[in-house]
Amino acid sequence: MVPFRQFLLKIHSRCNLACDYCYVYEGADQSWRGRPRRMELVTVRRTARRIGEHAAEHGLDEVSVVLHGGEPLLVGADHLDALLGELAAVGPRVRFTVQTNGLRLLDEPALLDVLHRHRVAVGVSLDGTRAAHDRHRRLPSGAGSWARTAEAVRLLGSDRHRELFAGLLCVVDLASDPVATYEALLEFAPPRLDLLLPHATWLEPPPGAR
Ligand code: SF4
Repeated sequence: MVPFRQFLLKIHSRCNLACDYCYVYEGADQSWRGRPRRMELVTVRRTARRIGEHAAEHGLDEVSVVLHGGEPLLVGADHLDALLGELAAVGPRVRFTVQTNGLRLLDEPALLDVLHRHRVAVGVSLDGTRAAHDRHRRLPSGAGSWARTAEAVRLLGSDRHRELFAGLLCVVDLASDPVATYEALLEFAPPRLDLLLPHATWLEPPPGAR
């Protein structure tokens, strides 16, 4: 049997963006409305204990924990610090990653201290050119979020924080020029680039599929 080595925790289930392709908040399943906003420490502790038991049972000396949301950094610096402390104590070495839209890094700089303290690799969602990104990834006001996201990515790419920067995640829009998209992403010199299509189902097939 191949044991699980990666655990994805949805630590905050609301978002500070309102992307039109969001598979959580724009999907048919609106049950998130009745769910708690953040994962409380008591839940984190129990989760950490179960990960530790699993790792011990399978002799794993390292596991990966991905922090996800909604927007995971909405938990705030103090809660994030406590949460990472709980997870770091599971037993095996833990490699942390967070997938974020980046905006909270500008709003609450203390988050960066916490991310450094726990060596959390940070991936940011950015959809290429300003026009492509702003077509779908909007603030609740309806304005595009590219400018703020780009500012956050530049901050992550600065000498002071570069070691945190794990890469960019780009949702591909078939209406966008692929080369322009690629070159726009390369301007941020990401250490890694992930491209994916918007979420699709049998009822709502992927764009371009017939
Ligand atoms: S940033 Fe992610 S979670 Fe937030 S609205 Fe956009 S796609 Fe959804």
